[in-house]
Amino acid sequence: MRRGKTFVISGPSGVGKSTVLKALLEGREDLYFSVSATTRDPRPGEVDGVHYHFIDADTFRQMIADGQFLEYAEYVGNFYGTPRKYVEEAMAQGKDAVLDIEIVGAGNVKRQMPEAVRVFIAPPSWKELERRLVERGTDSEEKIAKRLLRAKVEFQAAHDYDYFVINDTVEGAVQELNAILTAEHCRPTERMEIING
Ligand code: ADP
Ligand code: 5GP
Repeated sequence: MRRGKTFVISGPSGVGKSTVLKALLEGREDLYFSVSATTRDPRPGEVDGVHYHFIDADTFRQMIADGQFLEYAEYVGNFYGTPRKYVEEAMAQGKDAVLDIEIVGAGNVKRQMPEAVRVFIAPPSWKELERRLVERGTDSEEKIAKRLLRAKVEFQAAHDYDYFVINDTVEGAVQELNAILTAEHCRPTERMEIING
């Protein structure tokens, strides 16, 4: 059975990564969404084990010490990490692993897995990004300001990604992501059995 690929999705907070990925993953048995561990508090509606594994800082440190993370990073005052085990299991089962992670973690994944595909999701405008963060209503004014400041840094890293998707409409962004997934599976390296006969 062929091994799955890893797709790393980054983009500023509030751009709509969770929304777009939820739509992308709906009913897709061939895709595995990597549920990260985080020390941040759950937002209303977020479910432990579905959106994140919500853990305290001591548990997070222990997981680092035990080598359980494929990568981890600090983001606006909290820690976030990708548990290695499930990503590897999914890929061994032939599923593509989808990781929603920020730019430092994305760089670390690329170093360990050079074949990983990185996709940056951007908003149609800065004004719209701010509007979405405010509309989501989950962060204080101070947190929103910090996330917007961080977004400027994140944008500088975008040129280094393999693909740049614009989340104007959710349907449009899902369509672009599906095009990327399909194209990446049409690489000759993915089809060596046929090439080699
Ligand atoms: P992220 O996961 O990138 O932080 P979210 O998925 O939480 O972002 O989306 C932030 C807010 O923007 C949410 O209120 C969501 O409903 C809204 N949103 C997401 N995508 C779109 C879109 N294409 N058009 C309008 N609003 C959107
Ligand atoms: P949020 O708090 O908005 O859910 O996420 C904040 C940021 O952390 C987002 O950019 C998101 O992509 C990133 N993130 C979520 N999980 C992980 C992870 O496991 N590792 C890293 N490096 N970043 C993550």
